[in-house]
Order: sequence, then C-alpha cells, then structure tokens
Amino acid sequence: MACAPLQLATAAHFDDSAQARQWMQAPAGEQTSYRRHGNSSVLQLEATFAALEGGASCIAVSSGMAASVLVAGALLRSGEHVVLPANVFYETTAQFQHLADSMGVSLTRVTGGSVPALLAGCRHNTRMILVESPANPGLATLDLRTLAAACHLRGILLVVDNTLLTPLAQNVLDLGAHISLYSLSKHLAGHGDVMGGMVCTRHPELHQSLVAWRTCAGNALDPFSAWLALRGLRTLALRLRRHAANAHAIAAMLRRQFAWLDWTGAWNGADARRNRVRTRLHTGLMALRFANRGQGGAFVDALQDIPVLPSFGNPETGVFHYGGVVEDADALAACEIPAGLVRLSVGIEDPRDLLAALVPALRRVS
Ligand code: PLP
Repeated sequence: MACAPLQLATAAHFDDSAQARQWMQAPAGEQTSYRRHGNSSVLQLEATFAALEGGASCIAVSSGMAASVLVAGALLRSGEHVVLPANVFYETTAQFQHLADSMGVSLTRVTGGSVPALLAGCRHNTRMILVESPANPGLATLDLRTLAAACHLRGILLVVDNTLLTPLAQNVLDLGAHISLYSLSKHLAGHGDVMGGMVCTRHPELHQSLVAWRTCAGNALDPFSAWLALRGLRTLALRLRRHAANAHAIAAMLRRQFAWLDWTGAWNGADARRNRVRTRLHTGLMALRFANRGQGGAFVDALQDIPVLPSFGNPETGVFHYGGVVEDADALAACEIPAGLVRLSVGIEDPRDLLAALVPALRRVS
C-alpha cells in the first residue's frame, strides 16, 4: 500500500455546471467534490480499512466518539431501546445517556456483562446492543458469536466497539456483528498523534444511512488525520506483533515473580479463544488488579520512566489508574472499574527496558 498524496482542498474546481453536476452525482462514499462529503485521502483510508474488515464498507469520522454518535444518530429512532453493558468505555456510556434524553430513546445498562444478562435486558422495542469485547479498561470479554446469533434471531443490531483488539487480532464482523466501530486514535493510527474513528458494516442499507448521516452531521475525518492514519496502518501488523511479544514477556515475569498480582491480558480467557483472537497479533493491553486504590496508586507513583497516559496503543508504554483520578467510588463501581485497577498499555520498546522499569515498582508494593 503506497501512501496517497495528501488532498487538502475543501472543494474541487469545475469547468462548468455540467461537470459539477456529474461529480456531485457520484454515489455516496465516492464523493470528492466537497470535503465534508468525501476526500481522496479519506477514501483511501476507508478502502484500506475495508480490506482489513474483510470487504466491509467503512466510514471515517473525526473521533471514536464521533463513530458511536454516528451509529446512534443514523440508526436509532425515538421510542426505541438500547442495551449497554455497564463496562463499556465510560464516555460512550455518558454519550448514550445524553442521546437517550435528547432523542427519546430508552437505555438499559446491564451489570455483569454476560450474554444471558444482556439478552435479559432486552425488550420488545430493543433496536441495538452496543458492547466492547474486551472492554476498556477491565478487559472483560463476551462470547460474541453467541451474542450475534441471538441478536440476529431477535432482529436487534449488534454493534461492537473493537478498538482494543483491531480487526487484525479479532474480526467482529466475521463473528456476526452488524457494525464494528473503532477509535483510530489508539493502536490503529498507532503513534499518539491522530484523533479519528471508523464505522464498518457489510449491510449496504446500514452503510447508506451512515454515509447520509455523516454528511448531515458534518463530522467527517480531516484529510491530514486520514493520511497519518494510513501511514500508521502500514505498520499495524508489525507493531501488534511487537506489542504482543512485549506483553507476553511481562506476563511471564508476573507469573514467575509476582504471582500475588491478579492481571488479565486482552488476549487471554475462554471468550478470546471462542472469538478466535489471534494471540500472536494482539495489542499490549493488560489490566493489573491491585488489592485496593492505595496499592494501585503506590505502584503508579513508584514507576520510573513509564508515564501516566490517558490513552493507549501508543509506541511508548503507559499506565492509567482510574482510581487515582476519579475520587467518586460509586462512579467507578457504576462502570465496573475496581479502584485498584491499573491499565498497562505495553508499547514496542526493548522488553528489557520495560521489565527494568516495572520490576522495582512491583517490588515496592509487594
Ligand atoms: N472506544 C473505546 C473503547 C475507547 O477506549 C475510546 C477512547 O478511549 C473511545 C471509544 C473514544 O475514542 P476517541 O477518544 O477517539 O473519541
């Protein structure tokens, strides 16, 4: 995949109205006459992503949050009902709570996040279930194939935010999801310098509604971010392999030397196996479960050379302790985030440097 020239112009120039009319009649998704409708850098990113998603139609937007709001705006109608597990990204939850109020949509948040619990939360008017598997930051997983089969039977749209694993490590459309969505701002663009989102589907009628809504909402991705995201995708497989190798080295160290610490990797567990997660090509996300808020905080404070990073998927390793920044224990519990949980986003550095930074901090809190 060669990088396409960057196209910044907001509008194409035409010789006459006939030529303008011809361009503007291009099918939705192939438009390049006006940048909010389409742009050649954005189209190239969408085509590249479509290949990763096994032939889906993909729509690039201005952030991961813009991806979920696009799905809601395009596909939900007043009077419908949405089911959301309590453990999805807390800002996605906040977004759906706002949307529920303004759109006249009802929302059920389901705790415990199992497939039977999610289905038990459905009603006659449930239009959509939106899940993350694994979820940020606790990395809880779901049997997506079973959930998708139940959604198809009941006529419910299954939307999976697959930001954490990317389509290379887990293809949720192959597992039966109607729509996959992504924050490009994490592993996909992969360098900590892009904000963007992507929405993908293999259902043409859903794609048409999504494209039409993006044009109206005006939240298309900007060309420079598309160009940077394309550059990032060129090394995605390489980076994921390195993230995976480093995370495995850390897991081995934890098992050997710090068996008291409860941890999860985004790739392990029975659901990950059922979802055919590619273990050599996964991301470096780990959830370290310290006994309580104090121990998690002490670990983060003791770390040298690893920053506190309110994001993940960057080349550099970072940690984030929700319990260290959110004082309200009830707010954390409502999102199923234990106060002692520290998210470790393992980067692509030399693993010896990572172990040299992590081991002394873990010893300090042992
Ligand atoms: N989905 C998940 C799982 C996330 O972790 C995030 C952000 O952290 C988002 C969506 C939102 O993405 P963005 O920050 O690009 O809007």
